[in-house]
Amino acid sequence: MFKTDTIKGIEEVLYDKKLITSDQLSAIKFEHVNTGKSIESIIKERGYVSNEDYTKAMGESYGIDYTDLIGLQIPPELLELVPMAVAKQYNVVPFAQEGNTLSLAMLDPMDLQTIEFIERKTGLKVHPFITAAKAIERVLEEQKGKAIGEEISAALEEINSTTLKIEENAGELTDATLRDAPIARIVGMIMETAVKTAASDVHIEPNEDASRLRYRVDGILEEKRRIPKEMHDSIIARIKILAKMKIDEKRIPQDGRFKVQVGNTQTDLRVSTLPTIYGEKVVIRLLKEEGQVFTFKDLGMRGLSLKRLEEAILRPNGMTLVTGPTGSGKTVTLASALNKLNTVRVNIVTLEDPVEIRVPGVNQVQINPQAGLTFANGLRSFLRQDPNIIMVGEVRDGETAELAIHAALTGHLVLSTLHTNSSSGALPRMLDMGVENFLLASTVNVVVAQRLVRKVCEHCKTEYEPPKEVQEDMERVLSGIAKSTVLMNKDVDIVKSLKSVETNKIKFAKGSGCDKCNSTGYKGRLGIFEVLEVTDKVAHLTLDNSPASKIEAVAVEEGMITLLQDGYLRVLEGVTTLEEVMRVAK
Ligand SMILES: [Zn+2]
Repeated sequence: MFKTDTIKGIEEVLYDKKLITSDQLSAIKFEHVNTGKSIESIIKERGYVSNEDYTKAMGESYGIDYTDLIGLQIPPELLELVPMAVAKQYNVVPFAQEGNTLSLAMLDPMDLQTIEFIERKTGLKVHPFITAAKAIERVLEEQKGKAIGEEISAALEEINSTTLKIEENAGELTDATLRDAPIARIVGMIMETAVKTAASDVHIEPNEDASRLRYRVDGILEEKRRIPKEMHDSIIARIKILAKMKIDEKRIPQDGRFKVQVGNTQTDLRVSTLPTIYGEKVVIRLLKEEGQVFTFKDLGMRGLSLKRLEEAILRPNGMTLVTGPTGSGKTVTLASALNKLNTVRVNIVTLEDPVEIRVPGVNQVQINPQAGLTFANGLRSFLRQDPNIIMVGEVRDGETAELAIHAALTGHLVLSTLHTNSSSGALPRMLDMGVENFLLASTVNVVVAQRLVRKVCEHCKTEYEPPKEVQEDMERVLSGIAKSTVLMNKDVDIVKSLKSVETNKIKFAKGSGCDKCNSTGYKGRLGIFEVLEVTDKVAHLTLDNSPASKIEAVAVEEGMITLLQDGYLRVLEGVTTLEEVMRVAK
């Protein structure tokens, strides 16, 4: 069973793999000789290596295969052979069967008693694999998630035998009322999970055979489980009652709100329904509570980018545009801007679709096209309300663009967003919408392009050396910064970041997955930014109707750091991963 010829002490394996230094190796041996403590416990106590590396080295030391159990689909029949309770008690996970051999992930593959026990119980020969405790925990947790699906079915049985009772004035909910009736309990569970996992949205989507329940966490939408088709309508009905919508009306989209309290946290929820061919789809957005507004720095902006944006929004008039795809954090950036500008001496009005982040003291208006309140109409009436600062959720059409430019020309500071990928693409895009080039050139102060990347989880962060080609690509992209005299002379933050990279050998970070980050390796998000200042040169290019590429080249000459450069620097700083930057910025 064990490849005895390769036996080597774990400390030697770690040293051979360069996971510990020769000094650390000596220190371990010294302590072992002096105290008689086992080598394994010394390494664990000293925390020289991650749990994952330790487990891998253990396996190698004993000649046992290693598995991280990631991406493995465990056949249900194996869990019948080795039930959850047994798996949990003995810290094992069966994950494959070939003939009469059972592949078994074990915390301690030297535990022959457990191996014998499992062999007797299953009648199969055990092929042990070593794995980390958190991998076992994760798999068992996932299995528990599937078991909750059964709980939903049980609740369904219950609901069929009774009639659904829902209280009339369910405006605010507490833990207790959330758990009343079976359906209410399920909706409560859905909400509780959303709050606890810090999801931003919950989607409940009817399909042909079942409904999908999906959560968006850190910008990534993931399916959590399926809901039986028969339950879909009751769950939607419950949510609609909570959000004070018309239950019977299933043919038109509706909007509503309600609050939930989980523990001490109260969360505002915005609900919208959409009729689809298989029934009503519901999206619930979890809104940030008031006061949770960030500064530009908190969002990840720094150096010249930060300075240029701050100067632009402090001007009495003109326009600041924020660009990026949906989910790139434009709204948070604008809310941070409003928060910075928000004093009693100014009148700030916003037109949004929808109002996502409430800023106290600011007059926020939600557009309502059915009632005739569009971005364009709203802007027209706003101008009669004597505002200083106007935020328009999005410039979507020529009419809105023209009105926004007009407002910026007549002494207002206008903030808005635009759907373009790069900052330099915003100016040609506005021209396409029919804005006159001379008006555009004289009103836009800066254009921000941004993306959100997930941050590497600090609790399970590990380092690795990237392949040569990747390093070379990075050096090529970042060499632009070193060549820019403007950046090197004026951008302290970026120079500092570059220096920290030069002195180190290139190492990337990634999270190996732990209970703090739901085994994803990521926790929290950060913005990467590109801030284009409309200088005289850029304004001239706009007057000449120049393409985005030309505008970008000049902006870079004038010290603009690009999205990709900012992203790469964050990778080198170990804050995020290359995969994340590629996902959003390429
Ligand atoms: Zn983690």
